[in-house]
Amino acid sequence: MSRNRLLQQYIQEGRKPVLLVVDDQPINIRAINEVFKDEFNVLMATNGRSGLQKAREQQPDLILLDIVMPEMDGYEVCQQLSLDPLTTDIPVIFVTAETEANVEARGFEVGAVDFITKPFNPLIVRARVMTHLTLKLQMDIMKDMALIDGLTGLANRRRFDQALLGDWNLCQREQKPVALLMLDVDYFKRYNDSYGHLAGDECLKSIARALQTSVRRTSDICCRYGGEEFACLLPFTDKEGATLCADHVIGAVKQLNIAHKSSDIAPHVTVSIGIAVRTPHTDVQIEQLIQEADEALYASKQNGRNQFTVYRAPPIKVVSET
Ligand code: GH3
Ligand code: MG
Ligand code: MG
Repeated sequence: MSRNRLLQQYIQEGRKPVLLVVDDQPINIRAINEVFKDEFNVLMATNGRSGLQKAREQQPDLILLDIVMPEMDGYEVCQQLSLDPLTTDIPVIFVTAETEANVEARGFEVGAVDFITKPFNPLIVRARVMTHLTLKLQMDIMKDMALIDGLTGLANRRRFDQALLGDWNLCQREQKPVALLMLDVDYFKRYNDSYGHLAGDECLKSIARALQTSVRRTSDICCRYGGEEFACLLPFTDKEGATLCADHVIGAVKQLNIAHKSSDIAPHVTVSIGIAVRTPHTDVQIEQLIQEADEALYASKQNGRNQFTVYRAPPIKVVSET
C-alpha cells in the first residue's frame, strides 16, 4: 500500500494541493509547472518579496524555492517564512544548481525540509514533493484534531479559548460587543442513570448538532466546554442577538424531543443557558465575561431550568451614613 495514500485520497476527493514556486527564471517555473499542473494548483512568483506575499495570502501547502535570486535570496525568504506565524508551518524545498555541501547545510539551517538539484529529474522532484505534502497533510489533520472535541465534533475547549481571545481583541479594536452563551444540560446525571452512558453520549451529540443549527453566522463558534456543558461565542452580537440565539437553542433542543423520564421539569431533555454580553474595554478582563455567563446560567438553574438568563450587574450598594 502506498505511503502517500492520504495524499492520493485528498486528490481523489477533488481537492488540489497548492504549490508555490519561487524562482527568478520563468523557464524554471514553467518546467516545474509541467510536472505538477494536472494534480496541483501551481502558484508562481519571480522574486522573494512577491513569494513571501503569496505565501501569506494564499497559504500554499508547499514551497519550491530557488536560492540564487537578485535582491532577496532564497535563504532570506526561507528565514522570513519561518519567522512569520502565518507561514512558519509551510514546508520549503530548495531547488538549486549548487551541489556544495555547505549550500545544503545552510539551507537546512534556515528551515528547508529538502533539496532538489537543477537540472532536475521530474520523477525525483515529484516523489520528494509527494512525500513532503503527505507529511504536511498529516500535520494539518493533527492540528485540527487537537482543536476538536472527539465525541461531538464541535470545537473543543482549547479552540474556544483561542477564539475567545481573538474575538475579544477584534471586538475591542472595533468597539463592538461579544456575546457568550453558556449551556448546561438539565438533570443530565439522572439521564445517564436512567438510560445509560452510551445513550448519554448520543444525547450530547444530538445537542451539539442542535447548537450548530441555532447559530447563524460563520463567525459564531459552538464548543463543548466540558462534560455536559457547551458554549457559543458570538462576536459582533448584542443582547438582542444573543437572546434570539438562546431562544433558537432552547427551541432546537426541545425539537430533538429526546425522552427524559427522570427530569423534574419536562418529559424531554432540556438545557439551561446563561448569557453575558460585553464590549471589550481595557478595564474589563476576558474572564469577567465567562464569570458573568456562569452566574446567569446559575440563575437559570435556580429559576427552574429550561430557560435562559441575561446577566445583569447587581446595583451598586450605597451605604449612607446617618
Ligand atoms: P443540573 O440540572 O443541575 O445541571 O443537573 P446535572 O445532573 O446535569 O448536573 P451534574 O453536574 O450533577 O451532572 C452532570 C453529569 O453529566 C454528570 C456526568 O455523569 C454527566 N456527563 C459529563 N460528561 C459526560 C459525557 O461525556 N458523557 C456522558 N454520558 N455523561 C457525561
Ligand atoms: Mg454541569
Ligand atoms: Mg447539568
